[in-house]
Amino acid sequence: MNSQSFEKANRDRIQAVDNSFGTAGRPLYNSGRVLMGEGRLMKQGRRHSKPQPKDFYLFNDILVYGSIILNGRWHKKQKILHLEDIQLEDMEDGLDLVNQWLIRTPRKSFFVSASSLEEKQAWMDHIENCRLSLLRERNLKPNSVFASSWIPDKAACKCMRCLGTFTTTKRRHHCRKCGFVVCKVCSDQRARISNIHPTKKLRVCRLCHVTMEEENPQQRERGDSIGKSSEEEISDQEEGGEITPLPAVSRWGRMSIYDYPRSIRV
Ligand SMILES: [Zn+2]
Ligand SMILES: [Zn+2]
Repeated sequence: MNSQSFEKANRDRIQAVDNSFGTAGRPLYNSGRVLMGEGRLMKQGRRHSKPQPKDFYLFNDILVYGSIILNGRWHKKQKILHLEDIQLEDMEDGLDLVNQWLIRTPRKSFFVSASSLEEKQAWMDHIENCRLSLLRERNLKPNSVFASSWIPDKAACKCMRCLGTFTTTKRRHHCRKCGFVVCKVCSDQRARISNIHPTKKLRVCRLCHVTMEEENPQQRERGDSIGKSSEEEISDQEEGGEITPLPAVSRWGRMSIYDYPRSIRV
């Protein structure tokens, strides 16, 4: 494949992704961006107890995913993760998810799962290779501060701080700092976690609150009395965007890797 036909193929693929997100997504095509591969993974969300299928697109500089509306041809809820910001961690099989790994980002961290061990290895390798070349080519520093991954609601029937049993009135909350499932009383403090949000005060458990105050005593963030409006999530939807699947490549669980000539600099 010569570089001209490569460029056209690449542009067509990215434009198909753009089309699938429609106006709900940010345009992904720009010169220098290459779509490296795509496929479907299960993603464990923070709110849904069940993992949901999402279409993922690996570019040379970003990882994009979106919810599937129509068989991979129509997407919503586009999320864009910058590769220099992410970190992968291999995970053992879990109860709900097998062939899973953790994707950490500054603002949130979540588990994804592939349909087989080979798929998982392929995804992890490709993402990591793209990330390393990006850091090298653009001389970037890898990010080092990540949001904790949330412990799933159903993994905890007791508050992980006071050990009180959850009921319909004693409900589950998540500490944004450690990701533990805790009760309201144990998470009545609020604190700023700058990698998640620059100004918003977020729910933290008492232990994290104490630790954060010790680490940063002059920046006191008392949150007890600020009421519930401060506890809104950094929502799963915040990056708002759109993504489209490419025809014929969005097979369930299968990562399609595009064969490009190396070193395409546009
Ligand atoms: Zn508690
Ligand atoms: Zn905590």
